[in-house]
Amino acid sequence: MAAGSTVDITGLDKIELLRAMWEASQPAAFFTFAHGVPAPAWDDKEAEEVIKRYIDYFQGRPIKANLSADSVDSYLFDRDSRVPLAQIVASMREGGKQLPVMPPATPMCFYCQCYQSSTTLNGRPACESCNSMFGNDAVMAQVFGAPVSES
Ligand SMILES: [Zn+2]
Repeated sequence: MAAGSTVDITGLDKIELLRAMWEASQPAAFFTFAHGVPAPAWDDKEAEEVIKRYIDYFQGRPIKANLSADSVDSYLFDRDSRVPLAQIVASMREGGKQLPVMPPATPMCFYCQCYQSSTTLNGRPACESCNSMFGNDAVMAQVFGAPVSES
């Protein structure tokens, strides 16, 4: 069986843990994609409620874990997070509230909404596969409009 996808969280402050998971997670594509829709902020009061059951999204970010017991299946969280749950928990146990250093969030690919963008296409963040699939600024400008610019 897949070992390492269950993380023991016995004794940890679950609100602190959820906060750390939330910080490591990225806002759902909807908020990044829809310009002018602000991603929700952290909410302590909501956090107290949601830790009692399975959390799909919390304040706009994927959590996909159930923190109500002493162990957590971290498979779905780890898939989307910048830091795996085991590392967050290890870091909390060592340093109290000290959180692991987060790798910078990757900008979302404007075209397919994955989080792997490493290049730009028509002035917008793009992933390698979108770049090679539609790597033509003129065509992209016709389909998606002019790139975002100051002028
Ligand atoms: Zn893409």
